[in-house]
Amino acid sequence: MDKKKLFRMLPKVDEMLMLPKVESLIESNSRKMVLESIRLVIDQLRNEIIDLEEGSSIEISSDIVLERLETQINKNREGKFKRVINATGTVLHTNLGRAPLSEKVFDAIRDKVVRYSNLEYDIDKGSRGHRYDHLKEIVMKLTGAEDVLVVNNNASAVLLVLNTLAKEKEAVISRGELVEIGGSFRIPEVMGMSNSILKEVGTTNKTHLIDYENAIGEETALLMKVHTSNYRIVGFSESVALEDLVSLGNKQDIAVYEDIGSGNFIDFPKYGISEEPTIIDSIKKGVDVLSFSGDKLLGGVQAGIIVGKKKYIEKMKHNQLLRALRPDKLTLSILKELFKIYYYGEAEKEIPSIAMMIEDKESLKLKAERLYDCLSDIDGLTMKIDGDYSEVGGGSLPMERLETYVVRIDHEKYSASKLEELLRKNNNVPIISRVKDNSVILDVRTLFDEEFEIIRNVVERL
Ligand SMILES: *Cc1c(COP(=O)(O)O)cnc(C)c1O
Repeated sequence: MDKKKLFRMLPKVDEMLMLPKVESLIESNSRKMVLESIRLVIDQLRNEIIDLEEGSSIEISSDIVLERLETQINKNREGKFKRVINATGTVLHTNLGRAPLSEKVFDAIRDKVVRYSNLEYDIDKGSRGHRYDHLKEIVMKLTGAEDVLVVNNNASAVLLVLNTLAKEKEAVISRGELVEIGGSFRIPEVMGMSNSILKEVGTTNKTHLIDYENAIGEETALLMKVHTSNYRIVGFSESVALEDLVSLGNKQDIAVYEDIGSGNFIDFPKYGISEEPTIIDSIKKGVDVLSFSGDKLLGGVQAGIIVGKKKYIEKMKHNQLLRALRPDKLTLSILKELFKIYYYGEAEKEIPSIAMMIEDKESLKLKAERLYDCLSDIDGLTMKIDGDYSEVGGGSLPMERLETYVVRIDHEKYSASKLEELLRKNNNVPIISRVKDNSVILDVRTLFDEEFEIIRNVVERL
């Protein structure tokens, strides 16, 4: 068929708008969305006609145009920010949104956020309440801390704590703990922004209690300890234990603040993973103020959680800076449910990132076998189950190599890097994998069972 004839068959926008089917699409989407999609679909068809090779043809009918229109509308709705399948094995993959949220948490907060809530309303008194009070009881029960405050992320927590407790005063910190996290967060720079004066003590590898003692003077307002979450100094190194800093602080009447980085409540050695300090332990040791992230080991959402003694937290609640750092009701309701899960001992079962980190080798092997079986009858595919290592990610437990199982896949039509690209560019749900030794590998640690079927459908259509 000649191209001119095909061009003439292309529907006009106005004609499309008259179709009953399109009218109903406008009702359930919006006129603007449908109009934009109609124009795109017609443009695409026009381009396809232009690119058509001699002797070949395409079918243009109202059914086909409508079908494409629906697909296009769905695509528009979804946009480019979408769900992906994480087959990399890195549990807290910063590029992939760190921790997947617990479904139990998500279900539990729904009514509170799609309707009104008593976020800042005291129901008993019928007057204004405080948004942070909702977390108080559960945090007290879980951590033993007297009070709690939440800000946008742990970087803001550090800023708020220093600006409240050590503004224009000295905060003493070890040279071994002046870390950079995630490329943009540097302890010394945040200290500068908080208007507190950095008083470095000790050396990169060794700091002793006497170094802190000698540094304390008239201007000292805070002793600060930072957990070097994303790196370790090994060998000839020494840092001062939290309990020793606490007794020094008590003796001299100076507050002790620990930036512990990850919010950990799990006894990792029980699962063969190296120890990571826990919130409960630091509170037990008597630290005055403690801050941690909501989206690292805690497995929640981006937030900075500050817990500790009431007199210090109260001061922070009155800092004007808090207004700029305060979290939304979504964050607060998620954290409340998350803390409940930890308190009732359900974290290993209900928080996906925790379950993924501690999943044992045997169970991962079975999972790899299930994925293998699911893909086994696809033409052109060669597969093998292999042992490998996955990472925790998110700047947590940097030395940890978690033993895992992967399914190696090779496709007769594609090179490994091409196959990786095709999986990644899959339209509905991109599949993010790794290439190793010239094969694509799918690490089953970070896969959800229901994703096997999606992977199967994608690979089958290649
Ligand atoms: C990750 C980290 C931060 C920054 O936390 P965000 O929640 O990512 O802002 C600060 N301090 C330490 C020790 C960390 O590990």
